[in-house]
Amino acid sequence: MKVKRYKKVHKHLGFFTHNYGFRQPYQILVDGTFCLTALNNKINIADNIPRYLQADVKLITTQCAIIEMENLGPKLNGALIILKMYTIHKCGHEGKPISGSKCILSMLGKTNENHYIIATQDRDLQTKIRNKPGVPLLYLHIKTPVLEQPSEASVITAKNRLSLLQGSEREALEKLKEENGLAGSQEKIRKKKKKGPNPLSCKKRKAKSSSKMIVAPKERKPHIESTKRKRIKIPKHVRDELMKK
Ligand SMILES: [Zn+2]
Repeated sequence: MKVKRYKKVHKHLGFFTHNYGFRQPYQILVDGTFCLTALNNKINIADNIPRYLQADVKLITTQCAIIEMENLGPKLNGALIILKMYTIHKCGHEGKPISGSKCILSMLGKTNENHYIIATQDRDLQTKIRNKPGVPLLYLHIKTPVLEQPSEASVITAKNRLSLLQGSEREALEKLKEENGLAGSQEKIRKKKKKGPNPLSCKKRKAKSSSKMIVAPKERKPHIESTKRKRIKIPKHVRDELMKK
């Protein structure tokens, strides 16, 4: 089971690496709900998550997420202490804090260009993240971390990007050919190939038209005739008889 789990993680991370440019150390954007669940299940995020992802990670949060936890009272102090240990990325809400989930969504922008992996237990936020292409989602299933498989939005966008890329590559190649005058000459070659005789008829034609082949037998013919003449020449005893005379 464990090997299977790691294979899945590797596959999912590979998807985001190849299609969305994710690189190590992976930036895990953690919210208060994830911290609280980890603490309640005695999960050490800093130890567990890199081991589960088998990769270097950087744990990140925002000021809004911290302020939200502070506002929820002393019960969450433990989780708050953990959250405060992480690197705080500027969210642009300084002085005017918003809810943790809204802040994290705003951190993703349009294309998640900072390549955040979102770690949250907030169901509403999870749904919104699934609708955004190129955002990996990490959550805890009781004590087990789970990197969710790429969402449909992520898969579809990746496919569209790939086909667009392939289309533009094809166009660029055609342009390059035109610029170098290769497109025309290639067509000519193709036409020549189409009009040309098949290899079998080529062989025949070569045999017929090749001057060397014709010349050679002609040159040899006299030799053959001469040898034949030699053979036909008067037999020894006849010659002897003739010589005697
Ligand atoms: Zn914020």
